[in-house]
Amino acid sequence: MPDEQLSQLLKEVKKYHPHADLDPIRQGYAFAQEAHKGQMRKSGAPYIDHVVATALLLAQWHMPPQLVLAGLLHDVPEDTKYNIADIEKRFGKDLANIVEGETKLSTLRYHGRERYAENLRKMFFAIAQDVRVVLVKFADRVDNLKTLNVFPIKKQQRIALETIEIYAAIANRLGMGLVRGELEDLAFKSIHPQEYKWVLNFLKDKVQEREKYLEQVKKTLQKDLIKNEVHVQSIHGRIKRLYSLYLKLLTRDRDINKIYDLVALRIIVPTVQECYASLGALHQRWTPLKGRVKDYIAQPKPNGYQSLHTTIFCDDGEIVEFQIRTPEMHEEAEFGIAAHWFYDEQGKMSKRADEHVKWLKELASIQKNIQSRENFLEALDSLKIDIFQNRIFVFTPKGDVIDLPEKATPVDYAYAIHTEIGSRCAQAMVNGTIASLSTPLRSGDVVEIITDKNRKGPSPDWLEFVKTSHARNKIKDDMHKTKLSGWIRELVQRKHKSVAR
Ligand code: MN
Repeated sequence: MPDEQLSQLLKEVKKYHPHADLDPIRQGYAFAQEAHKGQMRKSGAPYIDHVVATALLLAQWHMPPQLVLAGLLHDVPEDTKYNIADIEKRFGKDLANIVEGETKLSTLRYHGRERYAENLRKMFFAIAQDVRVVLVKFADRVDNLKTLNVFPIKKQQRIALETIEIYAAIANRLGMGLVRGELEDLAFKSIHPQEYKWVLNFLKDKVQEREKYLEQVKKTLQKDLIKNEVHVQSIHGRIKRLYSLYLKLLTRDRDINKIYDLVALRIIVPTVQECYASLGALHQRWTPLKGRVKDYIAQPKPNGYQSLHTTIFCDDGEIVEFQIRTPEMHEEAEFGIAAHWFYDEQGKMSKRADEHVKWLKELASIQKNIQSRENFLEALDSLKIDIFQNRIFVFTPKGDVIDLPEKATPVDYAYAIHTEIGSRCAQAMVNGTIASLSTPLRSGDVVEIITDKNRKGPSPDWLEFVKTSHARNKIKDDMHKTKLSGWIRELVQRKHKSVAR
């Protein structure tokens, strides 16, 4: 059985990355097996099944081998006796970083809806440096959604809602149509089980009925395209995803006959030129519906989506939607950013500055989307993207996010948490290691402050390295107070002396 799991995984990786070195994945599989040995999931299945399923999803989404490996190891530091250092020793720094980001993301705690959203938002900014962490999280979430029923109803609903509002929204923004669809449909099933069944039944009946008809359309079309010297790679029916069908039904009086794109025909042709030629051939034979022709090739959607869309009165007045695209456009529409890694066996994300900025801009608009879908992020209205430049995000041991200016130190962090913690801070632990109070922090660091109850107050030396005006002001205040109390003590002592005299 385990060998079968591994060979299925390797087969899937090889499909899209034929020249990849598969040894690290073999080693990762063996290590994950050893690490999770004897562990069971809440559902009673062996834990290893979950991490293999996560890795398999990543492979199916065309992700590079390095990410598949991260999928295998993503729960090791959190749930086993091995830690990040063990992973780094065996699989290198780059992989350890992805897994570490993953662990941080899952230690975020839920403190009411707003707090959680806020945490998550900051989190996504923090990991903007490495989008791969989110991709592993998507796969993890898809697999977890499949066994969501082991949790109490309330928790199921919370996870499902968060999946649609945040995860799917981000997947969409990254142009990952397939991932978005999987996240949404699984979550939809948990949130509205009745509605889910209703849509599913609709779909079953209608799709069968439609498929026969579309087979005819396809034949006619194929002949026309050959005549127009278009080299068709494939024409296939695309069935609308359940959740997106459900949303559309709600806006169409729940009448399935008002949904034209229940099954669309997708035409894949080698070149852009042939895309337009196909559109021409279609419009020559049948009449397009007014206002339904969309040229997303000349004007791609904000997430990069490209295709030609048209809706047509075919034979017998039946209405059919067509989507025309090249194989590259198709790859990008389904797999989004993974498409850019398609030929990069290392799976390393380019660190080019302009891409970084682009990603931050994308994140900003994701936030806008979430806001308009559900107003729970209203509080963030005033935040502008430029605030996030030159900011870092560090974590409390509980997983709360504290945002600070670049090069902020543990003292800035301590004062950001509480004045008392600031003025009594004695030592700092950064990522589990003792660090000096003046160490510049970096995004993603986990910081813990060790306080000393007997400490009288801040040290004037701190003023030389703190970066926030908040910490600076508090230190000055405190020093002033300490001085005052010193004077008072002195005065009292003098008085005593004079009395004694
Ligand atoms: Mn997991």
